[in-house]
Amino acid sequence: MSAEKYNRSISLVCPTCGHDQFQYDDEDELIPVTCQQCKTEMFRDDLIEANAENIEINKNEVIGEVTKDIQKQFKDMSKGSKWKVR
Ligand SMILES: [Zn+2]
Repeated sequence: MSAEKYNRSISLVCPTCGHDQFQYDDEDELIPVTCQQCKTEMFRDDLIEANAENIEINKNEVIGEVTKDIQKQFKDMSKGSKWKVR
């Protein structure tokens, strides 16, 4: 099972206009990010907080997928005699 499959990028969106491209300084996290569309400036923490709901939803989706896959694996395992659970 590859973990990379679950590596989804979560795109942050501007709370003002919904745009997902920002200008930011890679060197300094304390410099506010600027929305490329509406030019709203906000701190990263504020942006992440504004997107917290989206992030939570994505997390739950991924956890659901992983759980399903693991359950399937166990099912397949118990089918083969080699893996019989005593
Ligand atoms: Zn914006």
